[in-house]
Amino acid sequence: MVSEVETTQLPIHIIADDCVDCGICVKECAFLQEYGSPHKLAANWLESVKTDPEQNTYPFECSLCGLCHGVCPKDLDPSAMFLAMRRQLVASGNGNLQQHKTIRAYEKRGSSALFSWYYFPAGCETIFFPGCALPGSYATTLTSLFTALQEMIPGIGLVFDCCTKPSHDLGNQAHFQKMFNELCQILQSRGVKKVLVACPNCHRIFSEYGKMFEVETVYEVLAGSADFRSIPRKEITVHDPCGVRKVESVQESVRTLLKGQSLTIREMKHNRKKSFCCGEGGSAGYLRPDFAKKWTAKRVEEAEETTIVSYCAGCTHFLGNSTETFHLLDLLFAPESTLQKKPWISKAYFIYWNRYSLKKKFKKRLSSGVSGTRKELILRPVE
Ligand code: SF4
Ligand code: SF4
Repeated sequence: MVSEVETTQLPIHIIADDCVDCGICVKECAFLQEYGSPHKLAANWLESVKTDPEQNTYPFECSLCGLCHGVCPKDLDPSAMFLAMRRQLVASGNGNLQQHKTIRAYEKRGSSALFSWYYFPAGCETIFFPGCALPGSYATTLTSLFTALQEMIPGIGLVFDCCTKPSHDLGNQAHFQKMFNELCQILQSRGVKKVLVACPNCHRIFSEYGKMFEVETVYEVLAGSADFRSIPRKEITVHDPCGVRKVESVQESVRTLLKGQSLTIREMKHNRKKSFCCGEGGSAGYLRPDFAKKWTAKRVEEAEETTIVSYCAGCTHFLGNSTETFHLLDLLFAPESTLQKKPWISKAYFIYWNRYSLKKKFKKRLSSGVSGTRKELILRPVE
């Protein structure tokens, strides 16, 4: 029988065997410039998997952004190797996650009785899964979006919960699998076949691990069937989030929506599959805020003072601390007020308050059908 460690070694073996040390990915990445080429790191790792956690924090400093994969001429994925290393360290008890307490607590609250809430109207086969960051910072826009989705997809359900991507990225695979499987079980038991997401990270998790569902973004749905008000004479640039760097249909639909608003798009040099990380990826900033700052600075530099539009709430926040950045959904559903005011960067207290208020509001508004928190629905038998 193949052990878990052997299975997780696979991405490391692939890099050790196939990377030709061309240096292309190293040129793009501050992390690799400090620690060495993927080939060297893979060979060293396989030679001696060290056991001292203090010596092994470096895989947690990679942002898991996948730019290395995007530029590799041999289509190799060093980010998968660094994730595998994280998993090995955590599984063997050598992953020190003490410094990631904040993000782990944030994730835990997402699935708690206070913030999680599921709503399945009669005959529901499609649900909207907004994720954690969007309800926290874009509550009004999310309400408008869901109203639009209800008009387009009668019988659509709504699920406030966390996809557990933080644990996935921290290499805490056992916890991730337990939580994500539980979420999928609830959806499947209620007859859900399709999951609509707004967050590129949720898209990645559902596409990779929730293969029993059809997965689509709200951007693809909106681009195919909705008209939005024009915003003439405004040039913007697009920041493609790492979670969908390989998903052309999502990138294309975002541009279709922006062009539909008469906006002129000036593409940055690093876009789509070669997009830079906003700086928040892989929770790397908890250990190396200097790396996170470098990635943000590179993104801001390429924008050259053009307003950035992104379609990830996390990226919009992170970049919004350094340059004018809007969420695409805000531009679609409230273009005038969005452009007139300075981008609003919400603080932790308001984020949680928004999520709680939004859940309360929807609970009142969506009263027919089956509903409840994650825990309530796990325990409640399906009639
Ligand atoms: S995933 Fe990103 S940070 Fe990590 S090695 Fe690749 S390019 Fe560098
Ligand atoms: S770009 Fe690909 S082949 Fe070149 S060093 Fe990076 S992983 Fe190796």
